[in-house]
Amino acid sequence: GAYGPERLGRVIAHFGRTLEVGSTTEDRTYRCHLRANLDALVTGDHVVWREGSDGSGVVVARGERDNVLERPDARGQLKPVAANIDQILIVFAVEPVAYANLIDRYLVAAEATGIPPVLVLNKIDLLPEDGGKLHELLQRYEMLGYPVVTTSTQHADGLEALHRQLTGRTSVFVGQSGVGKSSLIDRLLPDEALRIGELSSDSRKGTHTTTTARLYQLPAGGELIDSPGIREFGLVHLDERQVTEGFIEFREFLGHCRFRDCRHRSEPGCALLAAVERGAIHPERFASYRQILDSLDDDLR
Ligand code: GDP
Ligand code: ZN
Repeated sequence: GAYGPERLGRVIAHFGRTLEVGSTTEDRTYRCHLRANLDALVTGDHVVWREGSDGSGVVVARGERDNVLERPDARGQLKPVAANIDQILIVFAVEPVAYANLIDRYLVAAEATGIPPVLVLNKIDLLPEDGGKLHELLQRYEMLGYPVVTTSTQHADGLEALHRQLTGRTSVFVGQSGVGKSSLIDRLLPDEALRIGELSSDSRKGTHTTTTARLYQLPAGGELIDSPGIREFGLVHLDERQVTEGFIEFREFLGHCRFRDCRHRSEPGCALLAAVERGAIHPERFASYRQILDSLDDDLR
């Protein structure tokens, strides 16, 4: 057919096998179809595409994926929803108050994807003068090596650190309802009219409004991939090993227990229990670990 030379692009959004592809050399997108021999693509995929004579295009190849973010579908099967993500921003807030156990759950889920997590504490305008217990909590995660960014959508300089963290990277925001994800994203992508216009291909009020992920270009550089499903990302389908390895400070002790099949409960010679005992592992992190394992058992019942 009348197709131009091969070009590089990235999937901005998709509607079935119709793709919106962002050109890497121009500031515009092309509506493309997917060549029949290719498997379904997801938002964030790098692609090779060719422009047709009518201004639309065809995607002819997919680039290798660094990583994929998966979500369970209606039948509980894990399905990729986005690819090539540099960081998962786990948003929590001063109000509703952030519990360590919930943060740990998000961290474990993020670690299982292989995508580096970043903690974002939002609504710091509501922080009491002495910082309360939250400062200690943040310090704990910083000491584990996790970047921590504090934000507020309520004052002008509250988003500076977040801007720096986002620049030049592809990010997703996850976190509980009410922590301020929508508010943060609205502030990062100020041209809301354009965003909403782009969100639905047909009519905004119609039934065709897409709930699949969409990639947004941040004004200062960097990309944001967002969808309702991604925001609800959590602990899904993790097994015991993934949970154990999701606590990054446990890793150096794993394999050092007396019993090879040690489950770190009350076994003699357990290297993890010994590390908790001498303060090398924070007791609250270990309690989180046990709670998460117990909840996995509940899921199996
Ligand atoms: P989402 O459910 O995570 O998307 O949270 P929303 O963005 O809808 O925010 C939930 C509520 O928190 C709204 O009433 C926001 O106005 C409020 N909110 C968001 N960010 C901040 C903040 O930095 N400080 C304060 N005080 N309130 C905020
Ligand atoms: Zn053990």
